[in-house]
Amino acid sequence: MDNNELIKKIETVLNNAKAEFNEKINEKNLDEVYKNYLGKNSFLNNISRSISEYEPEIRKIIGMSVNNAKIKIEEIYKNLKEQIKYENSSNDSYSKIDLSLPGVKITQFHKHPITAVLDETVEFFTSMGFEVVEGPEIETAYYNFDALNIPDNHPARDVWDTFYLKNGLIPRTHTSSVQVRTMETKKPPLRVIAPGRCYRYESVDATHLFMFNQVEGLFVDKNVKLSDLKGILEATVKHLLGAKKTRFRPAFYPFVEPGLDLDIECVFCGGKGCNVCKFTGWIEVIPCGMVHPKVFEYAGINPDIYKGFAFGMGFDRLVMLKYNVNDLRLLYSGNMDVLNQF
Ligand SMILES: [Zn+2]
Repeated sequence: MDNNELIKKIETVLNNAKAEFNEKINEKNLDEVYKNYLGKNSFLNNISRSISEYEPEIRKIIGMSVNNAKIKIEEIYKNLKEQIKYENSSNDSYSKIDLSLPGVKITQFHKHPITAVLDETVEFFTSMGFEVVEGPEIETAYYNFDALNIPDNHPARDVWDTFYLKNGLIPRTHTSSVQVRTMETKKPPLRVIAPGRCYRYESVDATHLFMFNQVEGLFVDKNVKLSDLKGILEATVKHLLGAKKTRFRPAFYPFVEPGLDLDIECVFCGGKGCNVCKFTGWIEVIPCGMVHPKVFEYAGINPDIYKGFAFGMGFDRLVMLKYNVNDLRLLYSGNMDVLNQF
């Protein structure tokens, strides 16, 4: 075979390889075709091995031609191999989908019990014509104490163990501070509730935290009577807690006169007596009373014309009673095992 014939043969071999690869596209045949053309005893490798037998000038031309053919065959083989691999893998993942299986359940989220009961409370009060108002969580001593008839030297300040900030302001100890702010800016008649966080210097246990939620309520109008307070608060505990029996006891709070505590019959023992109610059969839920004339004076409202009542619900406590939770800390721990039960 002369040199020209040899180069033509190499070209033919390359073309044959291309044709064969295209014909037999599956993994096993692909390897066979590869071996035929680039295996140990293949035509092209035999030429490579005996290249030194050619004249130097011819050697170069033949060498280039052989290498070119080998590179092209190698390339076609690799591409086809990749293509087969890709097709197989996509077939696999497709066959793994079992359309008869039920779908993956999406976790349904819900409101935190405190938020849920708060929303329920707001809805209940707005249905009676109350409006929601808000005030700052960091208060001045004036709004938190003085304007609520608790002057600086009054021993009642000790009842609210307080955090003081370096600048003299106070994380509010109750939402009652919003009462005064509201009366300063709105003219009576007033029906407002003020939900929000409060802070007290408490050691933490099952029923006390240094932070808690309160809903303050204020009703001001001409001719407001104690019976109005009774009617609205009894309806509230019936609606929110399903309370059957209620009672009012006299109590002292500097910003109301007279001051009262609303008790409900213990929801845990039905009034028979248990640990929760300390064997009294009653649980205190809402401190309340008729707005003190001095508080009206601080807010610039004439106490001879207007009367009113106010109440403050320790809100977390209502949630504990409603859902029979015996440790307040559980509501704030963020433990999903607890929260998923609501
Ligand atoms: Zn009880």
